[in-house]
Amino acid sequence: MILHRARLVLPLATPAVEDGAVLVGGDRIRAVGRFEDLRREHPAAAVTDHGETVLLPGLINAHCHLDYTVMRGAILPNLSFSSWVRRINDLKRTLSDADYLRSIAGGLAELQRWGTTTVLNIESFPELMVQLPPPRIRTWWFYEMIDIRNRIHTEEVVAGALTFFEERPDWHGGFGLSPHAPYTASMELYQLARHAAEQYGMPFTTHLGESDEEEAMFTAGAGPLFDFLAGLGRDMSDCGHGTALQHLLAANALPDGAILAHMNFVTPEDEALLARRPGTFAIVHCPNCHAYFGRDPFPYETWRRLGFRVSLGTDSCASNRGLNLFDEMQTFRRQRPKVPAAEVLDMVTRHPAAALGLPGQLGELRTGARADFICVDYAGPRADAFEAVVENRTPPRAVHVNGHSA
Ligand SMILES: [Zn+2]
Repeated sequence: MILHRARLVLPLATPAVEDGAVLVGGDRIRAVGRFEDLRREHPAAAVTDHGETVLLPGLINAHCHLDYTVMRGAILPNLSFSSWVRRINDLKRTLSDADYLRSIAGGLAELQRWGTTTVLNIESFPELMVQLPPPRIRTWWFYEMIDIRNRIHTEEVVAGALTFFEERPDWHGGFGLSPHAPYTASMELYQLARHAAEQYGMPFTTHLGESDEEEAMFTAGAGPLFDFLAGLGRDMSDCGHGTALQHLLAANALPDGAILAHMNFVTPEDEALLARRPGTFAIVHCPNCHAYFGRDPFPYETWRRLGFRVSLGTDSCASNRGLNLFDEMQTFRRQRPKVPAAEVLDMVTRHPAAALGLPGQLGELRTGARADFICVDYAGPRADAFEAVVENRTPPRAVHVNGHSA
């Protein structure tokens, strides 16, 4: 057993502990409390002193594409969404398997350096995973499903994923399903993915309501994205009547607990439908990606009012400068200075943990939780601890995953 001491411990679900400590045994937290009390109760435990730091749960990135880390700076902002999609598709064709492996490894290292201990990664090339060493941070690999041109056999995908993780007990995390977006995945594919996610208890995520071009395509049956996809041979008969969200709900294509990335648009009709299902879905907002595309303000207050938890994600380096959740919290707070720092911190800890179906296991420090924590420099008084963490601009001094220094 190891007793990790810090100037301040922020368990998040319970009050902060001055001169606090976390007792770790194996991969779990065994106790959280005052350092003196825990040392007296567990005299045999080794002590690691993290000094003048705040010790808090490891951060959880709720939306990321590790495949595209090498595209940092490659696509200039100010492109329309469909032009950006075209550009990323062109870039993808120029990259080799080795480039993608380098991209994934570099992305994982960058996440870890900035205190992310769990990532929800959308994976376009799951076949490359056999060539990867076990990631040091907890990683959920969401199989990205697109069927504009090819049929996808969901059962084969699920069976392959289950076998993969059975054979790799040292991989922390798991597998999920991600029909890409309603403009690239058919309603049948969504339904197959929903069914498989429910049957095997896998998390499910999708992109939804991301761009005004997607909105125009579904509601008006027009616009650049409509033209682009019609040109690729997509069946456009679902366009011109209602939002994509309305189509998905009408087709019962989203499982309860679906993690919906972006959700930048919400009509009064959408609101009325969602008001009947408060809290059913988890929403993910990507502040820097949002700024990159110069979008209108994210409807945060609407989602809160409807009872949906909002998490933060980085999205990928194809539309972001990095994979740093502190940077995301700071961008979010600049746009919404009235949202308390403690609430912003929940968006990278407790909310995404709940979205993964692991509340109390991840994103919190409590007895029985996974021992994933980080230590951030701290000099100020206790009242400012949340503020100090959210405004932190240096890599955490310590990053521990599953009871071990990562
Ligand atoms: Zn994305």
